[in-house]
Amino acid sequence: MRPLEDARAEVLETVFPLGSETVPLAEAEGRILAEDVRAPTDVPPFPNSAMDGFAVIASDVASPPVRLRVVEDVPAGSVATRTVTSGTAIEIMTGAPMPAGADAVVKVEVTRQPDPETVEILEAVAPGTAVRPAGGDIPAGSLVLGAGAALGPVELGLLATAGVGSPRVGRRPRVALMATGDELRPAETVALEPGQIRDSNRPLLRGLIHQAGGEVIDLGIVGDEEAALTNALNRAAEESDAIVTSGGVSMGEYDLIKRVLSARGTVDFWQVAMQPAKPFAFGHIESVPLFGLPGNPVSVMVAFEQFARPALLKMQGATRLFRPRIVVPMGEAIDTDPEKVVFVRVALHREGHGLTARSSGGQSSNVLSALGAADGLAVVPVGTGRVDEGSLVEVELFRHPSAEFGR
Ligand code: AMP
Ligand code: MG
Repeated sequence: MRPLEDARAEVLETVFPLGSETVPLAEAEGRILAEDVRAPTDVPPFPNSAMDGFAVIASDVASPPVRLRVVEDVPAGSVATRTVTSGTAIEIMTGAPMPAGADAVVKVEVTRQPDPETVEILEAVAPGTAVRPAGGDIPAGSLVLGAGAALGPVELGLLATAGVGSPRVGRRPRVALMATGDELRPAETVALEPGQIRDSNRPLLRGLIHQAGGEVIDLGIVGDEEAALTNALNRAAEESDAIVTSGGVSMGEYDLIKRVLSARGTVDFWQVAMQPAKPFAFGHIESVPLFGLPGNPVSVMVAFEQFARPALLKMQGATRLFRPRIVVPMGEAIDTDPEKVVFVRVALHREGHGLTARSSGGQSSNVLSALGAADGLAVVPVGTGRVDEGSLVEVELFRHPSAEFGR
C-alpha cells in the first residue's frame, strides 16, 4: 500500500495550471485570482468623516459647551467649498471629505442646534476624532489580494474597491465525468429491476467538481462493456482537461477497466493506505489526467476530496489546495485500522464552550446517509488505531458554508 501523502504528491506533480482569462467581476465568484492585485489609489481616497456631525477644530471645543457658526453642509459625494476657521464648523455626513481647516468631527448626538446657522458642541474631542484617514483601509500600492486567492464575496468586494472590474483568473478545468457499472440507473428511476441501483455518484461528483471550480462534461452512465467504455474515454480525452470515473477499480472488477485504459494511455491501479477508498486508479489518457475513483459513494467522495479536488485547484493556480481542518475532541472512543489513514464521518456537537466530534452513523463505504449526517471527516493518522474518548482529532470540513454547522 502507498502512503496517502506519497500518492497525493505523485498526483499533484503531474498536473499544472491551465492558463488564465479575464472575466467580468459579476462572473468571478468561485474563481482563482491569477495575478497579484495592488491598490491603484488610497482606500479611502481622501480623509473623510466616520460620523454624521460637525467638522471642527478640536482646540476650539476644548471647554464645552461651545457655540460655533455653521458655514456649510457637506453630504457624501460633495466637497466643502469653505474652510473651517476658529469659531466655525461645517455640518458633515458620514463618508464626506473632511473640509480644509477642520481636524475632528463631533458626532451629531453630542450637539444641539438652536438655529440652522449655529451649533452648540456639548463634548470636547481630540484631534483626529471620527476622521478616517486617506489610505486607512488600504494604502496605495499595497497588496490587496495575491495570485492564487479564491474569490468569495469578500474578495469580490476587495477587487471592486481596488478598481478591478475584470480580474484575471485561472481557466476552469473541463472535467469529463462518467459512472461505470451495469447495475446503475439514472436518479429519476423509481421502479428498479432486481439487481439495479440508482447512480448516486454522478450527482455527488458533479457537485464536488463544481465546488472545486471545474466545468462538468457529463458522459453519463457507462455499462461494463469494452466498446462503450472506450467510446466514452475517447470523447473524454478529446474534450476535457481531466477525467473522473467511478467504479470498476476494485480488485474483483478492475480487469475490464484496466484493459480499456491500458489501450489508451498509462494508468496505474493503486492500493492507497487509506479507508475508505483504498483502490484508486490514476494516470493519463493521452495527456489528460484520469482519476479512477472506487464505486462506493463514500469512497467516491473521500477519494475525490483527497486526490481530484487539490489537482483541479492546482490547475486553476490556487494557493490553497486543501479543505480547512479544525482540531476537536472525539466525544466517543473509536477503533480504526492502524495501517491506514482513516476518514471517519463525524457530526460536530456543541458541548460546553466548544465542539465535539461524534460518529455520524455507519462507517461502511456504501453508507451515504452517514455522510449526509456529517459535518466533516475526522482524519485519523496511520499508526493510531484506537482513538480514546476526549482525545483530539483533526476534522476536515466539507459542508457548504450555508449548511447547518454543529448540532
Ligand atoms: P465497483 O468498484 O464498481 O465494484 O463498485 C463498488 C460498489 O459501489 C458496488 O456495490 C456498486 O454497485 C457501487 N456503485 C458503483 N457505482 C455506483 C454509483 N454510480 N452510484 C452508487 N453506487 C455505485
Ligand atoms: Mg462496478
